[in-house]
Amino acid sequence: KGTGGNRWQWFDPAMDLAADDSARLAADLRTALRDDQFFLVFQPIVSLPGGEAAGVEALLRWQHPARGLVPPDVFIPVAERIGVIGELGAWVFAQACRQNAAWARYGATAPTRISVNVSARQLADPGFVDTVAAILQETGADTRRLLIEVTETAVLNADTAIEQLHRLKTLGLRVALDDFGTGHSSLSLLLTCPVDVLKVDKSFVSGDTAGRAGAIIVKNIIGFTTDFGIAAVAEGVETAEQAEHLHSVGYRLAQGYHFGRPMAAEAFEDRYLNTPALVQLSPAGL
Ligand code: C2E
Ligand code: MG
Ligand code: MG
Ligand code: MG
Repeated sequence: KGTGGNRWQWFDPAMDLAADDSARLAADLRTALRDDQFFLVFQPIVSLPGGEAAGVEALLRWQHPARGLVPPDVFIPVAERIGVIGELGAWVFAQACRQNAAWARYGATAPTRISVNVSARQLADPGFVDTVAAILQETGADTRRLLIEVTETAVLNADTAIEQLHRLKTLGLRVALDDFGTGHSSLSLLLTCPVDVLKVDKSFVSGDTAGRAGAIIVKNIIGFTTDFGIAAVAEGVETAEQAEHLHSVGYRLAQGYHFGRPMAAEAFEDRYLNTPALVQLSPAGL
């Protein structure tokens, strides 16, 4: 493409995804799976107000040999479209389980749970839970230390998905509803889905969504999640003011750049696991 260089730059989705480029990305994705171009980064989910790590979310990264770091919002849809999301998802889950087992040796200061994101297409595959169960057995991971994050759209009117969530719960995993408020949010979802954690989308937290309306939603979510016995996590917290406000309206869990960006496993260990004061064992709900 003649631009060359700049391998460290984030891939720019606006520049790309012309049809033939998208086809090339798809082809590259298959190679990437074989060539080990994926890795996980880890972002703390913290307790308020102290900022101790209550858990940690695994986020997938693709280091493309020529394009640089391709963000998951770009390549996950491609992986779904070409049918490799199952394979990729299995890799993520196994990797998270291994990391979890490695961190368990920190004993009391190990993070209580690792969250793994699962896309709609993965959850729609009737073989998904069997794959999960096989990986759990193979890695010897402690299911109580795992949490699966799904979006509203993945479970809305999707009986297979909901049934699989129930089976995951039977295996001992917990379930979070991710990006809450961005899909076709329905409170009845909380009756049909076995949800343990609700993650409030960052657009409400940042005030992007309808300003005052967003603030009212954020505040009222605490009321019904508490009544349902569900833990609420505020996503995308970027400032101390937001953190203070969230705490003042009742949030006990948060995530965002203000507390910690997604980081390499070693950085997470240095910052949280080797610093017992920054880790809180079994915090309320997560
Ligand atoms: P998500 O699960 O809702 O993850 C949160 C996203 O927000 C992450 O983007 C994270 O880096 C970003 N974020 C965290 N704190 C802040 C903040 O304070 N401000 C802002 N502006 N952003 C923040 P990322 O890593 O690019 O992931 C995007 C999405 O890709 C994820 O959204 C998730 O839906 C999907 N994804 C990531 N990893 C995986 C994976 O392993 N499997 C699947 N199926 N999907 C994944
Ligand atoms: Mg997530
Ligand atoms: Mg989210
Ligand atoms: Mg998201």
